[in-house]
This record gives sequence, C-alpha cells and structure tokens, in this order.
Amino acid sequence: MLYNKLGAVSAGTFEQLSGFDHILHFVSTREGGISRGNFSTLNIGFHVGDDNFRVLKNRRILADALGVDLSRFTFANQCHSSNVAIVNDACRGKGSMELETALPHTDGMITNVKNICLGVQVADCVPILLYDPVRQVIAALHAGWKGTLRKIVTETVVKMVQHYDSKAENMLAALGPSNGPCCYEVGDDVVREARTALGNLKDIIKPAATPGKHIFDQWTANIRQLKDAGVKEENIENSGVCCQCNNTLFYSSRADQGHTGRFMAGIMLKKH
Ligand SMILES: [Zn+2]
Repeated sequence: MLYNKLGAVSAGTFEQLSGFDHILHFVSTREGGISRGNFSTLNIGFHVGDDNFRVLKNRRILADALGVDLSRFTFANQCHSSNVAIVNDACRGKGSMELETALPHTDGMITNVKNICLGVQVADCVPILLYDPVRQVIAALHAGWKGTLRKIVTETVVKMVQHYDSKAENMLAALGPSNGPCCYEVGDDVVREARTALGNLKDIIKPAATPGKHIFDQWTANIRQLKDAGVKEENIENSGVCCQCNNTLFYSSRADQGHTGRFMAGIMLKKH
C-alpha cells in the first residue's frame, strides 16, 4: 500500500488499483480528524459511541481531502453477514450524513453507477475492494471472522458475475489493513465454526503464543476464497498491514479493548 498526504489527512492506496484512471479508491487512517480519546482523530463510524457532530465533521474533512462530495458516499449498517447489496442511483448518499439511512443489514455493496463512493468501515475486520475494469463494476465489502466464515467475498464475486456479467478472471482485489496473522487470536469455538464453514483450515488456523488460543489468518482465508472463485492470484493485492500492530495509524478494536473508532476503505467509479 502507498500512503498519500492530503493536507492533514493521510490515506492509503493500493498499487494495482492506482493504475486505473476510471476509479478513485482509498483507505483512510486515524490522521487529520477532530475526534478525541480512543476515537482520535479521524473516526468515520457513527455507531461506536463517538460524538455524531465530530464524526460528521471527520467525514467532511476526508471527503474534502479526496475531492469527493460527501453526498456521493454510500454506507451500510454492517452486521457481519454475507448480505451484498446492488447499489443503484437511489442509494447514493445513504448513510453518508447519519446512521439511520445507511443500507440495512448489509456488509458488501456492488455498483456500476458512476459517482457513488462505496464505503466500508472497519477496525480489525478485513476491508476488501473489488474492481472489474472490463465491465466497469466496483465492490466494497468487509470480512471479519464471521463474514469470512459466511464467505462474503465469494458472494460478492458471484453477484458481480450474475448481475453485471463480470468475469472473475478480470477482477482485481485489494485487502486493506486489518488484524493480521501476527495478532488475531481466537478460541476453540471459532476454530470449530471455521472447520464447519470452510472445511480445510490449512494455513488459516495456526498455533498462537497464548495457551488455548489459535491464530485465525483472515488474509489467507479471504485470498483462498477469491482464488477459488476464479480471481487470479496476481490480481490480488494484500496490504499486509496489521492494524493491531499499527494502532497509531489505524483503529484496532482489539488494541483498544473494543472501545475505538473506525477507518474506512472506499471505491468510486469516476465520471469521465
Ligand atoms: Zn499484528
């Protein structure tokens, strides 16, 4: 991932996606906002107990830095499901100014409509951006361990194929900062659920340093799903950034004992 200074805000971009003129994409960081304490400073999440005024201001700061009107952002009320919404013109701006209008019970969004910035909010879950440059279709989703077990990234690729005639072999995929295999410990219960949901756990579940715990490798699990769905390995870019290790730059729910903000990953088809 590359880091770009946009005034006081800094945002990451993926090397592969940066090569395409038709899209704008980014990963926000904690830098450049007005939230305080555990939320400091650029918290994007309305739902985490921060002051709504500050969150809205942070979103405006980020949108201004990117040169995209906030009314073009679309957010979902994420619930760790595998529900993927097809986003049309009427969805533009949903959830951008307030929590209530965000797309309900949705963890992934797909669109081919220009000037809609699909945004997912995370702090440990994996934000994933997809782009089909042939059919000009974009998607944003988030996959924590629950979403990964529910195969939301597979569901998103399948829906892009069904609704937009995309081909998986043309798609580019980018995995943003999230809790990495260096840190992401889970208990026996998660391992049991993972075995039922995913079957083969080779390289996904590994021994942890903490007795009785296991490492759940969210990155390997989602990359495997992308490859199984037909996305080429060379088209998958993993930031490899662990937000728990890099907690000063990215929010990590685990690093802050569940009381923290959210950063976002966004993607938009630009009007040419
Ligand atoms: Zn780590």
